[in-house]
Amino acid sequence: MNHSAEPDDMPGLSVFEKSCAYCGARFRVLASHLPRQDVPEAYACPECGKHYELESAVEPEVRLLKPRSDGKQDRYQETMF
Ligand SMILES: [Zn+2]
Repeated sequence: MNHSAEPDDMPGLSVFEKSCAYCGARFRVLASHLPRQDVPEAYACPECGKHYELESAVEPEVRLLKPRSDGKQDRYQETMF
């Protein structure tokens, strides 16, 4: 019996596009996945800095596709308690 070639053991890459809920910028997120090594990782909107989270093995890579659409220059203020 050989279980070393199970599909679940294959590293994966997920790529998706996201619109920032705060400033309207559009960006692409690349996340690498490894079996049993995915942890909640934070990534930030490249335009306003708002943080989002996903499950990934390493820190996600973010590429800006479309600049923010709200016409402002401010940074998103994370509410910390
Ligand atoms: Zn943003």
